[in-house]
Amino acid sequence: MKGNVIFLLLFFGHLYALPDTIRIGGLFHPEDDKQEVAFRYAVERVNADRAVLPRAKLLAQVETISPQDSFHASKRVCHLLRSGVAAIFGPQSAPAAAHVQSICDTMELPHLETRWDYRTRRESCLVNLYPHPAALSRAYVDLVRAWGWKSFTIVYENSDGLVRLQELLKAHGPTELPVSVRQLPDSHDYRPLLKQIKNSAESHIVLDCATERIRDVLQQAQQIGMMSDYHSYLVTSLDLHSVDLEEFKYGGTNITALRLLDPERADVQRVVRDWVYEEARKGRKLQLGHSAKDNMTFIKTETALMYDAVHLFAKALHDLDTSQQIDVRPLSCEAEDTWPHGYSLINYMKIVEMKGLTGVIKFDHQGFRSDFTLDIIELTRDGLQKAGTWNSSEGVNYTRSYGENQKQIVEILQNKTLIVTTILSAPYCMRKEASEKLTGNAQFEGYAIDLIHEISKILGFNYTFKLAPDGRYGSFHRETKEWDGMIRELLEQRADLAIADLTITYDREQVVDFTMPFMNLGISVLYRKPIKQPPNLFSFLSPLSLDVWIYMATAYLGVSVLLFILARFSPYEWDTPRNCLDEPPVLENQFTLLNSLWFTIGSLMQQGSDIAPKAVSTRMVAGMWWFFTLIMISSYTANLAAFLTVERMDSPIESAEDLAKQTKIKYGALKGGSTAAFFRDSNFSTYQRMWSFMESARPTVFTSSNKEGEERVMRGKGSYAYLMESTTIEYVIERNCDLTQVGGMLDSKGYGIAMPPNSPYRTAISGAVLKLQEEGKLHILKTKWWKEKRGGGSCRDETSKSSSTANELGLANVGGVFVVLMGGMGVACVIAVCEFVWKSRKVAVDERKEEASLCSEMASELRSALKCPSGAGGGGVTGGTRDGADSPYLHYGFNTKSQLH
Ligand code: GLU
Repeated sequence: MKGNVIFLLLFFGHLYALPDTIRIGGLFHPEDDKQEVAFRYAVERVNADRAVLPRAKLLAQVETISPQDSFHASKRVCHLLRSGVAAIFGPQSAPAAAHVQSICDTMELPHLETRWDYRTRRESCLVNLYPHPAALSRAYVDLVRAWGWKSFTIVYENSDGLVRLQELLKAHGPTELPVSVRQLPDSHDYRPLLKQIKNSAESHIVLDCATERIRDVLQQAQQIGMMSDYHSYLVTSLDLHSVDLEEFKYGGTNITALRLLDPERADVQRVVRDWVYEEARKGRKLQLGHSAKDNMTFIKTETALMYDAVHLFAKALHDLDTSQQIDVRPLSCEAEDTWPHGYSLINYMKIVEMKGLTGVIKFDHQGFRSDFTLDIIELTRDGLQKAGTWNSSEGVNYTRSYGENQKQIVEILQNKTLIVTTILSAPYCMRKEASEKLTGNAQFEGYAIDLIHEISKILGFNYTFKLAPDGRYGSFHRETKEWDGMIRELLEQRADLAIADLTITYDREQVVDFTMPFMNLGISVLYRKPIKQPPNLFSFLSPLSLDVWIYMATAYLGVSVLLFILARFSPYEWDTPRNCLDEPPVLENQFTLLNSLWFTIGSLMQQGSDIAPKAVSTRMVAGMWWFFTLIMISSYTANLAAFLTVERMDSPIESAEDLAKQTKIKYGALKGGSTAAFFRDSNFSTYQRMWSFMESARPTVFTSSNKEGEERVMRGKGSYAYLMESTTIEYVIERNCDLTQVGGMLDSKGYGIAMPPNSPYRTAISGAVLKLQEEGKLHILKTKWWKEKRGGGSCRDETSKSSSTANELGLANVGGVFVVLMGGMGVACVIAVCEFVWKSRKVAVDERKEEASLCSEMASELRSALKCPSGAGGGGVTGGTRDGADSPYLHYGFNTKSQLH
């Protein structure tokens, strides 16, 4: 279809001719001289370029009108119409434009506009080159979505701004965080408003105001500290390139805008260069910069659109010229006159597709500009740079790579001085001990101080330490809905980094940014060391439990009795007595009950006895008993060594669960710290119970610092345990030898460096932390501050000292054996006396002596016992048999005289 039209146009082209001069009218406001200049220059360009309009010349007829005076505007339009114009360009002000529009509509005269117009229906004679606000608004929505802004504040100047941003307001669903909308005051003092925004901790701002006011607003924002690294501005003006942003370039604030006109494009630069040259040649006064780059700021979107509008008109006129005879004649506002070619020309303008200064010029069926591309521009150290593009079909498309962005951030970081907030907490940050008064960063030392120093060496920034005023880590107060401690410092942008033993928690991560963790840890219990048990006198009994001792004694008795019985049954155990006649009257059996007991105890004690079984059955019993004793005695010996050398410790708690089970020992944690928060938020019943116990304890079990917790455990002498982070426990027990860690870790987490939300430095600092970790620097720092500096390693000496003496057993350890020995000796003496008395009595009875003679018998026996042994008559063991009254057992000698009566 289009091809046919072009063919017809070419075919009939030579038949028609335009008038030599075609007048076009321009309506401009006096203060907006650039529009007029652009209009005139565009006419000159069209006339100069024969390819655009070969057979006619355009003649610019300009009228100057006041923006608010629509009556005067209508009069000037009528004047233009009377002089016979083919189109009207402008004006820029809405009230005047509305009148001009209605006149043009009546006269069917093309009206070309280049101004922002929110109306969703356009008059048939109007061609507006300015993109429709709805399309622009969609671009802002896409940008905000691409950045993932969860909340933001819209600062607008007038109701037009709200229309411009209505898509953005609509896109923000009710479930999302609230969007604040604030209007700039009419006065030029925006500080009160900006302060309110600052106090609301908002860092994402959409600024919609006249291009001329942008600099003022940003300047005042800078004055109140709203132009930090953490603030982002989306400026809705398409002319940000015309604003002097020099003083904001180094602040690190993210200022982004969209533009229709790309001043970097070669054709745009050529046009602007020629234009400036031309104006200068004609001696026309234009407020231009010195360099070509400065001149780019001169050309605003609407100016470029005016240039494009004239070219569009010329192209459409040329196309129309090839299809019909066109004449331009004066029209009168008083008569109901119309221009017959008006509609045709407008239709041509709407179907034409051409490339202008503002990109592809194309209209959709509603007459709105379509398929245009907007550049996303960001303020960098080198001024505004194109970061990507937006178009209605593809949305946001960033052309700058992630690496380039990061490189730029690192560049910004260099030579910047970051405020680092911290708190005094050993060994992360401590006051340096020095004889003279130290100031600034020199006052502090510790792991965190060294870590920041290492990171700054990698990234090249400077830093200043600042202690958090309340000395707290950072917790959220539900009543006041405010954070405290270091987190508050970050949120109120009084610090750029927070470094300490600051745990990465979910709640904190919601409001600030954390780097990768530089240290891993978990919650554990700090408690006093278990008290050494005094050695037990009868510790030699410990290797076997009471049950085993009882079973052993039973086994001993059982086996002895069995041996006795079996020996009596077995004929092989009956023997002729030694040194006896060939035909002994009786046989003897060595396994009397006593001998059986003696035999088994002898083997149990690993000593043996003179008695040996002869029969298989008794040997079987003996063999099994020996095997039993072998195993039992070796097990006992093995265990005994361990029991005697290991110190017996008495600890009432072995883990956090043990704490939960009792109420005698109080336990607490750091107030407002992540440990307390862990118990408060835990769903695990044990920890919930522990939290209720901690909360209800009076006096409070919470401490204001870890040091206080440590002191409280010391003072408590076992009545207080402190829930603390394992890394800090490690540090404490390395120096305070009376304390120890009880049980394992209850959770696993890490310490990170925190920074304000949306900090651009997070990735760079995280990278530096990882680098230090991979290089082993973090490990070196940990060894330095944990094991070496400030008394590190003192408890290790003690451990080695105590372990070297552990093998020496004192009397206390083995005294019980002596007691048993002495007891045994005593019992033996008593038995000996009993035996003596018993035997003396027996002899006395046998010899039928009176009571008095018992004593004399005992005395005589005693005398003979104490007599030095002489020959075989001394007290020795003599085998012998008793007469038939006694059983034929072997008896040990008592006294040869009395025995062998
Ligand atoms: N590291 C903790 C925090 O960031 C403080 C110590 C603790 O709670 O045990 O809150």
